[in-house]
Amino acid sequence: MSEKYTIGLGNNDVILRKKANSDFVSFWDEQAHNLSWFSPWDRTLDWTPPFAKWFVGGTINASYNALDIHQNTKSDKPAILWEGENGDSKTYTYGDLFIEVQKFANVLKSLGVKKGDRVTIYLPMVPELPIAMLACARIGAIHTVVFSGFSAASIKDRIEDSKSKIVITADGGYRRGKIIKLKEVIDDAIKDFEFVEHVIVLERTKNKIYLSTKDKLWKDLMETISDSCDAEKLPSDHPLYILYTSGTTGKPKGVLHGTGGYLTHLYSTFKWAFDIKDSDVFFCTADIGWVTGHSYVVYAPLLHGATQIMYEGAPDFPDVSRMWDILQKYHVSIFYTTPTALRMFMKFGDDIPNSFDLSSLRLLGTVGEPINPEVWKWYYKTIGKEKCPIIDTWWQTETGGMMISSLPGVETIPLKPGSGTLPIPGTAISVVDEFGTEVPPNTKGYLIIKNPWPGMLLTLWGDDEKYKTVYWSKYPNCYYPGDYALKDDDGYLWLLGRADDVLKIAGHRIGTAELESCIVSNDDVAESAVCGIPDDIKGEVIIAFVVLKDGITTDKNILEKNLHVQIRNDIGAIASPKQIYFVSKLPKTRSGKIMRRLLKSIGNGEKIGDTSTLDDVSAVTEIQSIVQEKSK
Ligand code: ATP
Ligand code: MG
Repeated sequence: MSEKYTIGLGNNDVILRKKANSDFVSFWDEQAHNLSWFSPWDRTLDWTPPFAKWFVGGTINASYNALDIHQNTKSDKPAILWEGENGDSKTYTYGDLFIEVQKFANVLKSLGVKKGDRVTIYLPMVPELPIAMLACARIGAIHTVVFSGFSAASIKDRIEDSKSKIVITADGGYRRGKIIKLKEVIDDAIKDFEFVEHVIVLERTKNKIYLSTKDKLWKDLMETISDSCDAEKLPSDHPLYILYTSGTTGKPKGVLHGTGGYLTHLYSTFKWAFDIKDSDVFFCTADIGWVTGHSYVVYAPLLHGATQIMYEGAPDFPDVSRMWDILQKYHVSIFYTTPTALRMFMKFGDDIPNSFDLSSLRLLGTVGEPINPEVWKWYYKTIGKEKCPIIDTWWQTETGGMMISSLPGVETIPLKPGSGTLPIPGTAISVVDEFGTEVPPNTKGYLIIKNPWPGMLLTLWGDDEKYKTVYWSKYPNCYYPGDYALKDDDGYLWLLGRADDVLKIAGHRIGTAELESCIVSNDDVAESAVCGIPDDIKGEVIIAFVVLKDGITTDKNILEKNLHVQIRNDIGAIASPKQIYFVSKLPKTRSGKIMRRLLKSIGNGEKIGDTSTLDDVSAVTEIQSIVQEKSK
């Protein structure tokens, strides 16, 4: 590779990986001492495959570690700098959060919430959302946050599955200038659920709502309640939350996370990957409704006493400069976002970010999907001005925290655009073939995790059997994440897409990410998604969906030819798609991930299956009609 991307932050801890490699259990034992425990553990790890318990016998509380421990030193330090979609702003210091959380914990207790009870939270991105989560954690209730963009049917399933006796929502939430009527959605979702005892309603938009006898207003409940509530001393494996996965591959799964192990994983990865300093202003753009928001908006930054931005609305509202405006306004030093968001920003050109002062940035991150090398380079040059390392962090709802990432807080290594680089110390990640044998370098295979790790899910809520079959049945005693990958000569990992989506063409296997990145490297292309469909002669053929950058007027026939040439040169003739469809948008989950299985169904002329997590139905209808038109 001619270009070099070795950017260091001056850290070089040569011992960390050595320790982790020699004994992962004592390594994590040492990391757990960074947290505040009420009582120490007797055993670091109990491993009865596939169930792991970390720091057994220890007692801890997540809310205590996020708030109480900072009160002597940081009570006046901003914890959350909140920016409303309409430009409102509010600051919550560590002292403010401490009071609000204790009050709300007392509210929950006054409504009869006990240790182990589930509480569903369906709130927009407002400070009351982390407050409600931390209040649950404080008293040992299990929070289950549902992204506020979900419909009544989707939220109904999740409330029913978790049997929450309390639901917390708002009169409404702002999204692209419109009010989303969250309370109405909840009314509809819970109408048949007697087990839901109370609905707590936050007034955010002040639109008119109907209040039943179950409903209580947040502000009324908080008015006279005591602001002192001690944190419960909970066993390390006490469940902290249930969170449903994004549903990219099918029906979402109710992932259950514990406390002591999960927090240890977050504390460590936040320090190693983001190199967090007291003076940093951290901004993760994820909605708290997804795991990135749970781990790296709510828990990890607060464990470290960091200052962070929380933004309420859409990243392109009122226009696509909103993120850069926030970075400039708050002097953000660490920015963590998704490839989908970056592809959208890139689509509108460099002039927009170039008109903002982004000089406060020192570190950039990405998560959620494979990042195309072309997009990585744009992020590096146009946003980071070639002075910020980029961390490409691979992980899942199930892993709790990062599992693969470069770690500027630990070591300076050369970065490679499109590679997540190395496994997190203390994890055992390999790439294997169908039979579980490690494949040689540069050979594609399945990612697996061979040892338990502290952030690992406890199980799937109420379904140990499904937990065993989904994650632990493909390879004995190894966790199977369902992702396709490759390890190069330097041991760097390249995530190539979902294992289920792998293209099997004439005996070759091609990850969706490889082909999509090749297509996206064309100057006119903003985004692409590919999938395989059955073919009588070849077994499988590829179809590609392509979204062009804003303002591109190149003739489609010429473009199509150029793309074929490019694919033939970069990957080989076998990867040439049978059809290339130009579309205006791709079907995505509400968390912004491309839903290739829908494209596959459309390409096959099949019914499209579960669409409960689909963000915008019009993407599907457009594609259906374009595909039909071309097949005539
Ligand atoms: P479901 O499991 O319900 O289909 P999901 O897998 O999309 O949903 P998440 O847990 O939010 O739900 O996403 C994790 C997945 O996202 C990973 O398995 C991987 O496919 C992808 N992913 C996350 N980060 C990266 C990354 N840095 N590089 C490549 N892929 C990533
Ligand atoms: Mg998944």
